[in-house]
Amino acid sequence: MRIGIDIGGTRIKIAGLEDERVIFKKELSFSLKEEPDRVVSRIKQAVRDVSISSIGIGIAGLVEYKKGLLISSPNLPLWKGINIPLLFRDFFNTNIAVDNDANVYAWGEYRIFYRDLDNFLLITMGTGIGSGIILKGEVYHGSRMLAGEIGHITIIPDGRSCLCGNKGCLEVYIGSKGILDMAWNRGLQVEEVYDIYALAKKGNRKAKEVFEKVGVYLAIGLTNVIQLLDPDTIVLGGGVSNAFELFYPSLEQELKQRIYEWNVRSVYIRPSQLGSFGGAIGAAFLPEP
Ligand SMILES: [Zn+2]
Repeated sequence: MRIGIDIGGTRIKIAGLEDERVIFKKELSFSLKEEPDRVVSRIKQAVRDVSISSIGIGIAGLVEYKKGLLISSPNLPLWKGINIPLLFRDFFNTNIAVDNDANVYAWGEYRIFYRDLDNFLLITMGTGIGSGIILKGEVYHGSRMLAGEIGHITIIPDGRSCLCGNKGCLEVYIGSKGILDMAWNRGLQVEEVYDIYALAKKGNRKAKEVFEKVGVYLAIGLTNVIQLLDPDTIVLGGGVSNAFELFYPSLEQELKQRIYEWNVRSVYIRPSQLGSFGGAIGAAFLPEP
């Protein structure tokens, strides 16, 4: 069985696949203080009954995927500088490959649902905004493995400061913190994006307005991306994308106004079908047979 593992900031998701069919899903929690080799030994324990043919790993951070090196990862300080396949090889005797978590998510969604397309983009919407780019059927990494940082595209010149050092980044406005700010500024008593979603579903006007704004900001970011790459389809994944039906109308309306001959282009924008295990499922497709 092919195993895919998604190592995020606080959770590890594991999926087992037979061909393109998901056979099992498992989730482990872990602490950032836990030594990486201890974490891998717990993963080994979680899949001890499985006959493994390959392991793919998606990890949050800057990954030199050819060497398997995690160059930096703000969310996983203890994992920085580690050769991930080497670490796993102490525990598993199989074919192992690694890539960035957004890239593997994009790769999985593409392999299962969009393989007939050439150019495809998956955007992850959560605490941060990231993306995986597929060009001509392959993951596009860029020259320094930094392609796809769509969260740091400027959407408002001289806008609010971002942790990356730039101002007015897309992520500042529609990362979960930015969305919460919009809700708080409208006087909504909410603690997480889901609360705003629940209010909007009940018809709360201010909560609906927040998601309309999300659609507008996202459209400004996507305008830049669509003009540059002319993709066939853009898929939206991550927790915030669960509110797709709430922000899509304003997203589409804004794109129509900003992109010349939008109807001719007809870029399809869809919510992710793989959902929260998308990274793990996609990672399973990484190692070449
Ligand atoms: Zn930024």
